[in-house]
Amino acid sequence: MAYQIKKPGRTMGDQSYVVEATKGLGITFKRLFTNVFSKPENKKIATIRYPDEVRDYPERFRGVHRLTHRSDGSPRCVACLCCSTACPAQCIYIEAAEYEPGDPRAGYERYPKVFVIDELRCIFCGYCVEACPCDAIRMDTGAHVPASWDREHFIFDKETLMSIPGRDGTYVTENPRHEPGDPTHPGIDREHSH
Ligand code: SF4
Ligand code: SF4
Repeated sequence: MAYQIKKPGRTMGDQSYVVEATKGLGITFKRLFTNVFSKPENKKIATIRYPDEVRDYPERFRGVHRLTHRSDGSPRCVACLCCSTACPAQCIYIEAAEYEPGDPRAGYERYPKVFVIDELRCIFCGYCVEACPCDAIRMDTGAHVPASWDREHFIFDKETLMSIPGRDGTYVTENPRHEPGDPTHPGIDREHSH
C-alpha cells in the first residue's frame, strides 16, 4: 500500500515568500552594518581575504602533490604505475623508462620519463599516496593548487611536481630507501632473483 505524505499547511504569507525574504534581508543588512561600523574585534566575519590571507590547514590536509627526491636528487618514483592505476579520476599519466646501462638501478627498476597530474581533474582522495610502494608521491605540501584562469596551469609535469617541497620545506621523506648497490639493499635484480 502506497503512503502519501501530506503537504504542510501554508498561509498566504508563506506562499508569497515576502515575509521570509524580508526576514532574511533583515539579517543580511544587520550583519552588513555590524561589520561595516563595528570595531575590528567586534566584527562577525567568517571569511578571509584569500589569497592575501591564508588559514593554517590541519596537519593531515591533502594538498597539492609533490614527487619526493632521492639523496642524489633523482625521483624516488620507480614508474610502477600503482598510483595511476589506483586513481579513480584517471588524472595521472606516466611514461616509464629504463636507466642507462651502468647505472646500478638499470635492470632493477625504472624511472618516470613523463609524470603528469591533472590537478583540476584530481578529487584529492589520496589513493595515489596510499598506493605508492616507494613513498614517492605525497600530498603533505599543506598548499592549494595556485588559482589560475589558464587550464594549462593545472597540468603539473614531473619537474613541477619535483619542485614542490613538503610542509617541512624539504624534498625528501624520512622513510628510508635502500638503493641498489647499498650494503642495506637486498641485492635482488632481474639476473639475481634469489
Ligand atoms: S588524489 Fe586521488 S584523484 Fe588525485 S591524483 Fe591521487 S588518486 Fe588521483
Ligand atoms: S609515484 Fe609511486 S605508485 Fe606512482 S608510479 Fe611512482 S613509485 Fe609507482
